[in-house]
Amino acid sequence: MEKRFIYADNAATTAVSEEVLNAMMPHFTKAYGNASSIYKLGRDAQADIEEAREKVAAALGADAKEIFFTSCGSESDNWAIKGTAEMMAKKGKKHIVTSVFEHHAVLHTCEYLEKHGFEVTYVPVDEKGMINPEDVRNAIREDTALVTIMYANNEIGTIQPIEEIAAVCHEKKVLFHTDAVQAVGHVEINVKKQGIDMLSLSGHKIHAQKGIGALYVRKGIVLPNLIHGGGQERGKRAGTENVPAIVGLGRAVEIACSNISEKAALITPKRNRLIDGILKIPYTRLNGDRDRRLPGNLNISIEGIEGESLLLMLDMNGICASSGSACTSGSLDPSHVLLSIGLKHEVAHGSLRLSIEEDVTDEDVNYILEVVPKVVERLREMSPVWEKMMKGEKYE
Ligand SMILES: *Cc1c(COP(=O)(O)O)cnc(C)c1O
Repeated sequence: MEKRFIYADNAATTAVSEEVLNAMMPHFTKAYGNASSIYKLGRDAQADIEEAREKVAAALGADAKEIFFTSCGSESDNWAIKGTAEMMAKKGKKHIVTSVFEHHAVLHTCEYLEKHGFEVTYVPVDEKGMINPEDVRNAIREDTALVTIMYANNEIGTIQPIEEIAAVCHEKKVLFHTDAVQAVGHVEINVKKQGIDMLSLSGHKIHAQKGIGALYVRKGIVLPNLIHGGGQERGKRAGTENVPAIVGLGRAVEIACSNISEKAALITPKRNRLIDGILKIPYTRLNGDRDRRLPGNLNISIEGIEGESLLLMLDMNGICASSGSACTSGSLDPSHVLLSIGLKHEVAHGSLRLSIEEDVTDEDVNYILEVVPKVVERLREMSPVWEKMMKGEKYE
């Protein structure tokens, strides 16, 4: 089979789309005004920022005044969590509820707060990668300042019962934030209907550039200022606005949220074919609930192999994919997400995440289904772990 190039790592980042780039381009050259300036060039930039804000708000069912532009999804998460913590600490509320399998932008922010006098409860996820709203209810205390639970998981793609969780929070009169970086543009979101108080999103996961994000903050919630300085972002986040990036984000959100069900209808059958095809390899398992997951996500553990070797071999075959282990400071840490759903360390090490979009063709799917089993077979032939497994010996 002829070698192909297939980008199957859209959960890591996406390409800036041509439409988004076209929207941005004038803002690098002719339309370079500072949005705070009084003359037309500046006023136009301000108007373009506000138009982008309207687009983001419309896509989420929010009001434009409730949207703040940030530099990324991580910044939005940090602002929502640390800002709420600071605000609520004044009322003696120093407890936060989150889940064990959040993105590090949330987990590490919570760990930081733990070092500064806050208590954090990490609710578990079940073996299918789902959070039970009742666990959230049981974790909430008198002094709970915030519940922050991700909308869709970035590794295993499971979509959480956000509306139910938000309802529990409201019943208990606790603020609810969700990291929706993986969900925006892939599932229908309406912050008002779903009772979401704060929501983070990021541009580069939906075909805008890297380094732009937004935070929705429901009217009535007054977060402390994130950056002190000028009056940008209603005085809350100072710094001359990144007009091209903001305009690009507005267009990207508008496009991504305009045809969610059509995209899902195109991608889901391909995703399912990939799941069924890869699961034909012996000693594999699908991670995360099969149905309650993002249309383009699949995450499969393949026993007896190392994720890193698999990724390198797939790369040699033109396939960009991701794994459940992250190489940090030279040591291989198995993913906290895969451990949280009950996988053993050695199984979590050999996981494959593919995150596909509409550009992946049926021929691409065939190609992946041809390459992956071959590569797995080769890696297993070379694997001492696999040899021991096959002999029924204990392997650690
Ligand atoms: C990518 C991602 C982030 C971080 O977004 P950045 O814009 O890269 O900072 C946060 N949460 C989730 C779930 C993500 O997938």
